[in-house]
Amino acid sequence: MATHVENPESSEIEIDKTFRDLGVVDVLCEACEQLGWKQPTKIQIETIPVALQGRDIIGLAETGSGKTGAFALPILQGLLENPQRLYALVLTPTRELAFQISEQFEALGSSIGVKSAVIVGGIDMMSQALTLAKKPHVIIATPGRLIDHLENTKGFNLKALKYLVMDEADRILNMDFETEMDKILKVISRDRRTFLFSATMTKKVQKLERAALKDPVKCAVSSKYQTVEKLQQFYIFIPSKFKDCYLVYVLNELAGNSFMIFCSTCNNTQRVALLLRNLGFTAISLHGQMSQSRSTLSLVSASGHRKW
Ligand code: AMP
Repeated sequence: MATHVENPESSEIEIDKTFRDLGVVDVLCEACEQLGWKQPTKIQIETIPVALQGRDIIGLAETGSGKTGAFALPILQGLLENPQRLYALVLTPTRELAFQISEQFEALGSSIGVKSAVIVGGIDMMSQALTLAKKPHVIIATPGRLIDHLENTKGFNLKALKYLVMDEADRILNMDFETEMDKILKVISRDRRTFLFSATMTKKVQKLERAALKDPVKCAVSSKYQTVEKLQQFYIFIPSKFKDCYLVYVLNELAGNSFMIFCSTCNNTQRVALLLRNLGFTAISLHGQMSQSRSTLSLVSASGHRKW
């Protein structure tokens, strides 16, 4: 059974440390600088030195804490020392997260020629099989589609894998990917390092930890689930029939900013986007029933402020 060793530095984190102080090599420190990362975040300060020592890690960190950098930098440094194709696998619950993680790997690893591949549902299996045949260094995947490839794509296996990351493990398990996770753990290399990141430590996450990690170090920057420190949150208590009206009022009051509006159903995202477009706002919807190409197009349109 895995035992927890608390990171001895965790109680007194020095916040003015540099990436170099953590043991990150020059070429990756420069990559951080180019991304505008002046100093490591708390979870990076806790995780990176321990990861560079070759330990398994449980990272309890909130979204937006810089946890992607916390696992990507040690993996890239390992890759620099021992170059190998199909070196690391990052499992994540959603397609959007997979693309965001891949962007960070590409940005941090651009000067060292790292190739990453995103393997998620909603995209043609055949073209993904061709990408996998080129043997990228890092694969970022959602569990279901990865299993499809492990079972059906000839010549593809992860027996030589050196790093496994389970990102947002609580969400992976809440989405009923438990069986997929078990299958993946059975067919990948046992001789690997494993990082498990989760916002909450549920019973299911603990079970996964026991199945996948060896003598892990626990790195926690928040003991309970919480939102980013500087986030301002407001709550308006109104009859639901006036919700649209208040929404439009708030958008007009804050005109000139970009907004993200979360809705409870796919239908509702489309209804709200239509309503706003009819009122002259540039609005697009994004939901799970769209194909990946349409979702990506929506995001590109949104970031380019193109009229839909
Ligand atoms: P994550 O929690 O990994 O999703 O990261 C949230 C955001 O923080 C991303 O946009 C990162 O590019 C950014 N980020 C990560 N590490 C740092 C850092 N050390 N300094 C400034 N920004 C960072």
